[in-house]
Amino acid sequence: MKFICVGCGVQHAESAVPPGRCAICEDQRQYVGPGGQRWTALKELQATHKNQLDVEGPELISISTEPKFAIGQRALHLRTAAGNILWDCISLIDDRSVGAVQALGGVSAIAISHPHYYSSMVEWSRALGDVPIYLHAADGEWVMRPHPAIVFWQGDNHQLAPGLTLIRCGGHFPGGTVLHWAGGAGGKGALLTGDVIQVGQDRKTVSFMYSYPNYIPVSARTVREIVAAVEPFEFDHIYGAWFGQNILSNAKQALRYSADRYIAAITDADQPEARVSP
Ligand SMILES: [Zn+2]
Ligand SMILES: [Zn+2]
Repeated sequence: MKFICVGCGVQHAESAVPPGRCAICEDQRQYVGPGGQRWTALKELQATHKNQLDVEGPELISISTEPKFAIGQRALHLRTAAGNILWDCISLIDDRSVGAVQALGGVSAIAISHPHYYSSMVEWSRALGDVPIYLHAADGEWVMRPHPAIVFWQGDNHQLAPGLTLIRCGGHFPGGTVLHWAGGAGGKGALLTGDVIQVGQDRKTVSFMYSYPNYIPVSARTVREIVAAVEPFEFDHIYGAWFGQNILSNAKQALRYSADRYIAAITDADQPEARVSP
């Protein structure tokens, strides 16, 4: 059986009995729940959960699982003339969801922001025609189910297709990646960020963390590196990791503002109370 960790939702390689531990959950960036390490499998998940598709924007559909499972992130199906992408991934896959994605034109590739969302990526790849899964090589040690469909890309940028560029930001994970979609936001550009750049509950600002559940921030230098990584790209929208967590205007200014606010908060500089938020 290929067991799925209930904590992080990542499917592990074939084993006769559940793995002894989940390395992703034992890492400082995640946690093992109060009931200890628990496992499920796809069949079980299919019996208790359903995927929900929602329109997030033009040519952009979110896929999320109800009720919430594991971390609870969404995947995003992005449709462009240059090819369709499944951005980030979720643990539950079933015939209904695959049919829905195929009705949207399928995908030519899957790309994932960081290991917490590796989920059932190999199942999705196989169901969608053995499409490649683009992961940053710096996070290769966190792949729990190795597979030939996985393409480890290296360096700072990787173009999936014209107007679709993976950008390594680092921060939450060394290979933490966002996707730039030049044609997004009506041609003003969009960033799909997972939680590498986390959209705040206000949907006007963002934040950056080494660990979200354990409240471990990143350094000021890391924040500057994240901003510098996306600075060459134009974007007006940011689509975060959760359903509805989107910044839908002036996202680049929002990112700069949020970075300044964050650096002030973690250094000895005055808190930016007097500042007007974007
Ligand atoms: Zn786990
Ligand atoms: Zn994460």
